[in-house]
Formats: sequence, structure tokens, C-alpha cells
Amino acid sequence: MSIVKAENVIYSYKRKDDETEETKPVSALAGVSLDASEGEFIAVLGHNGSGKSTFAKQLNALLVPDEGTVFIDGMDTKEDKYTLDIRKTAGMVFQNPDNQMVASVVEEEVGFGPENMGVPTEEIWERVERALSSVGMYAYRESNPSRLSGGQKQRIAIAGILAMEPKCIVLDEPTAMLDPKGRIDVLEVLHKMNKEQGVTIIFITHNMEEVTGADRIFVMDKGKIVMNGTPREVFSKVEELRDLKLDVPKVTKLAHELKKRGVILPDGILTSDELAEALKHYQNTPV
Ligand code: ADP
Ligand code: MG
Repeated sequence: MSIVKAENVIYSYKRKDDETEETKPVSALAGVSLDASEGEFIAVLGHNGSGKSTFAKQLNALLVPDEGTVFIDGMDTKEDKYTLDIRKTAGMVFQNPDNQMVASVVEEEVGFGPENMGVPTEEIWERVERALSSVGMYAYRESNPSRLSGGQKQRIAIAGILAMEPKCIVLDEPTAMLDPKGRIDVLEVLHKMNKEQGVTIIFITHNMEEVTGADRIFVMDKGKIVMNGTPREVFSKVEELRDLKLDVPKVTKLAHELKKRGVILPDGILTSDELAEALKHYQNTPV
């Protein structure tokens, strides 16, 4: 069953020109189709301006298509009667954790969403505990969110969404403002939630290194999906990605360069372990 189904979504921003007062449409999505099954970990990759954030906002009915359709768990985002249920089903996490914080105590911050949804008080505390434990932040439940690191804040924001028990979480470049440790922690939490609780993840990023563990990758360019497949399939296409001004993970690039120089290796190596394994039989060959 599809939890997210976008069919040929077309969207432009209507921007008013200050001088002429004319409204000129700025095309942001030019026919995007993407289908995610429940429990999948989907990554959406693309450089700046490719339409990733516009697409993310479509999944939460913050924007609705000009043409085409988005279904979230079978609900059409164009129908107002579904808006609340859509937002309960697909929670959003944004780039800047500071803009998402409202409370001065971590556990209040995390309880805010379920409280707004009308969850009974006792159950709110159970949910808050569970959510904080699963992002590894239970020990900080009484802290002031403003004192935490960027990575910790982002994990609190994720716990806040998790406490609403969504089937799907959409994250728009959640690691962009974090240091390397914060990035790794956030990614770990997302993979854990995905594996252990079956939460569908739509993870948006422009960082290649972060998507090697996804089930499928969709690559966006100029408001379109230009490539999709498993990480191995996508990162086998080093030259095509380069034409799109996108990189591949460092170890994939190294393997590709070795291959070009005659070293026999499979396409789409994703981890240093895989590269080490593939190179093992070269170790005793004298040069
Ligand atoms: P990404 O998230 O991949 O950087 P966006 O979805 O933010 O891409 O932007 C896609 C296109 O839409 C870009 O050309 C951008 O300039 C334009 N755009 C984004 N937001 C707005 C807006 N609020 N008004 C007008 N144009 C916008
Ligand atoms: Mg963006």
C-alpha cells in the first residue's frame, strides 16, 4: 500500500512583480511522480533550487498541486476535509531546529503536538517518554532546548513529530545545519525508527554520503525526477550524476577512478568495507 503517491505534480509559485504589478509564475515542479510504500526509507536528492522543498510541502498539504495529484495514505491533499488527517499522517521536520522550538522544557516541547491533537494527558506523557527514548534524548527531558546542540535540538524536533505517531515523516534537509556528529546521530535515529517502528521516512538532502543506507533514491533536477533506484543503481551512474552537477559518495568515486585505471571492481560501491572486500584479491599481487 502506498503511503505517499505523487502523480505528475506540477506547481508554480505566483510571484508579483513589484514594478509592473504583473503576476509571473515561477515553475518549481514540472511533473513529479513518486510512490513510497509503507515502511520504506526514501531519499530525495537534488541541488539547490531543484524543487525539493516545494515537493516536501506538497506532502503535508502546505502547498497543493496546480496539476496532478498527491495522495497521503489514500487521502487527496486537494480536499480540505483531509488536511488535518494528512498532517497527522505525514509529520514534517525542517532544516533549522531553532525555528521549530516553542517550549522552554524539552518534554513540553515534545508533548506540544499530541496535546494540540487532543491526546489525553496521561497518554501524552507515555508518548513523550517513548519518543524521547527512541531518539536517545530521555536524559535531557527536563533541559531547556535552547541549551542543546544543533543535533540534539533536531532529535527533539523529531521526537516531537514521533509523539504524534505519524505513519510517515518528511524531513527537509534536517542535517544541513548540523556538525558531523549531529548528522550521524540524526541519521541513526531515523534508520532506527524506520526499522523498529516501521515509520516511512522521506529524507531530503543534497548530501550524497547520507543516502547510501536508503531503500530507494529519487534524484531531482529542475522540478523533475531525473533518476531513481537503489543507492547502488543510482551511484553506478557516476558520469550522469556529474552532468547533473551532483557528486557521488567519496568511496564510490574512488572505486570509479580505480576502475577507470583498470582495477576490476563492481559498479556502485557504497562503503569502505565493500571496497576493501572487492580489493582483497589484489593484496598479494606484486607490483
Ligand atoms: P530546493 O528545496 O531544492 O532548493 P525549492 O523547492 O526551494 O528547491 O525551489 C524550487 C524553485 O522554486 C526555485 O527556482 C526557487 O527559486 C523557486 N521558489 C521557491 N520558493 C519560492 C517562493 N516562495 N516564491 C517564488 N519562488 C520560489
Ligand atoms: Mg530546500
